Amino acid sequence: MTGRFAPSPSGRMHLGNIFAALLSWLSARKEGGRWILRIEDLDPQRSRMDYALQIEDDLEWLGLDWDEGGVAGKGDNGPYCQSLRGEIYEKALDKLKSTGLTYPCYCTRADIMATQAPHESDGRVVYSGTCRPARFGGGMSHNENRRQERATRIYVPDREIVFTDRLYGRQSVNLAGHCGDFILRRGDGAWAYQLAVVIDDALMGVTEVVRGSDLLLSSAQQIYLYELLGYPAPEFAHVPLLCNADGRRLSKRDASLGMGELRKEYTPSQIIGQLAYIAGILPEPFPVSARGLLPLFSWSAVRKTATLCI
Ligand code: GLU
Repeated sequence: MTGRFAPSPSGRMHLGNIFAALLSWLSARKEGGRWILRIEDLDPQRSRMDYALQIEDDLEWLGLDWDEGGVAGKGDNGPYCQSLRGEIYEKALDKLKSTGLTYPCYCTRADIMATQAPHESDGRVVYSGTCRPARFGGGMSHNENRRQERATRIYVPDREIVFTDRLYGRQSVNLAGHCGDFILRRGDGAWAYQLAVVIDDALMGVTEVVRGSDLLLSSAQQIYLYELLGYPAPEFAHVPLLCNADGRRLSKRDASLGMGELRKEYTPSQIIGQLAYIAGILPEPFPVSARGLLPLFSWSAVRKTATLCI
């Protein structure tokens, strides 16, 4: 059993990030499993090393310890920063290209979004198929030399991908309707989240992915890549998003629920106790350490509400 937490170092963590981290940690530790910290710094414009170090400091302060990974990169499956894994992604992309299912794409907007995990609140775009070649039913008789910069996109079939989420149950997603052919690598060479997350989870031996419910349907894209690459897919457990008093998903703007402010006002045990109460694991929000919660944790206790307002 191997779990992981895979933050993007684009700011200080907030309560919502910690909620997912805590549940992932509890699930792995309860089974006596390993927990990996992977730094998802694919986006060169948004990622900063000082944020990654701050995330580590916040996790340590909360008592959420990891066996592998982090900026220092301890462990045998590194590097654990995605910005250092280009050669690994290159090999995986070659393998996907050899299936004949990829094609070059010259469109730009979706390209720019591809390095980021597609949180539902950011809006979802179904690819219109502009660059889709005739062999996949598109109209593009493309000329490889047309432009230097081109992205790599993968064809998706018009069929249901079915999986069972530990919390949200059976899911059936038709990728053609959900997102269309999706990007594996941007025109400027940056790697797409969907490719990197699959390769990393597979090669790092991750058997359980716990993260916010806005990535629930991304799992279908990822399962498709697992199938093509011949890796077993992990278990998925998506957890409710936390929203602020206005009903919006927590973001970096909600500074009062960011770790900077929370650490000034509360102890780690108070924060863990509050999160465990919100999750449904504790009947009252009493202070408890992460380790102290282990005997009480089970997935059947965790609430399935799509969002939890705090
Ligand atoms: N790095 C992604 C994010 O912070 C999380 C991706 C994942 O857990 O699969 O949004």
